[in-house]
Amino acid sequence: MDLGIKGRKAIVCASSKGLGRGSAEALAEAGCDLVLNARTAETLEQTADDIRAKYNVNVKTVAADVTSDEGRAALLEAEPAPDILINNAGGPPPGVWSDWGAEEWEGAFRSNMLTPILLATAVLPGMIDRGWGRVVSITSGSVKAPIGRLGLSNGARAGLTGFVAGTARQVAQHGVIMNNILPGQHDTDRIKGMLTGAAKSQGITLEEARAQAQAANPRGRFGTAEEFGKVCAFLCSEHVGFMIGQNVLLDGGAFNSTMG
Ligand code: NAP
Repeated sequence: MDLGIKGRKAIVCASSKGLGRGSAEALAEAGCDLVLNARTAETLEQTADDIRAKYNVNVKTVAADVTSDEGRAALLEAEPAPDILINNAGGPPPGVWSDWGAEEWEGAFRSNMLTPILLATAVLPGMIDRGWGRVVSITSGSVKAPIGRLGLSNGARAGLTGFVAGTARQVAQHGVIMNNILPGQHDTDRIKGMLTGAAKSQGITLEEARAQAQAANPRGRFGTAEEFGKVCAFLCSEHVGFMIGQNVLLDGGAFNSTMG
């Protein structure tokens, strides 16, 4: 399917690895020029080189912390008039409610709520003026069904979800489409980190923890960054003109429900 976005300019936050990279690759395959971002310059440059070589699109890089004011300013300087914004950042640390005080909550709020809200707020006026825009925020299945050990994610991302729900309906009339993708367990460094902690606390190996988690999923496996990226690119396409403020769950059926 032609996504109809060849030549569009996309900022993809937190995109040297994992779900951000998967999204960047799928947008590049659709012909978008990219601004990629991550904190570690070496991995970021390697990813940028790979994508340039594979898809022959223009790729700029911004090695910066997207949760900082300077990082966001650098991203917007690299591409002041993006057509597409993919909001993404690292997830919060696991734990239980009694582990978290003001500092931890402020960190989660900054990474997983305030940063995407501020970036969207910065790019929406230009998208509205140009009559076209796509903002996709990578959140988490924790928005739909709370994950006990990820209370910081449950809380902070719910706030972002509320912002998108309201704002998406205010900007839609201008051709600007905002939606969220809610990943369940995907095979990235993040899930490896989470499973390493789970394996340690249960006294099992990482491989055993992996096998347990995969067996518990109706699909019998984790999602891949590639399949995640394709859905993300579709949500940035010409074909989502009537899809407003939705939360697209990609979890292999892990959330057990007849509807909704
Ligand atoms: P990942 O494989 O660990 O990749 C994270 C990427 O983001 C890396 O490129 C990393 O590069 C970059 N990054 C992290 N923090 C950053 C920051 N502050 N500023 C700029 N770049 C940053 O993680 P992932 O699995 O793709 O997860 C992406 C998001 O989806 C996270 O918020 C995660 O919690 C959420 N999520 C993931 C899953 C899953 O199963 N994978 C499930 C639910 C939700 P640097 O470290 O070099 O900055």
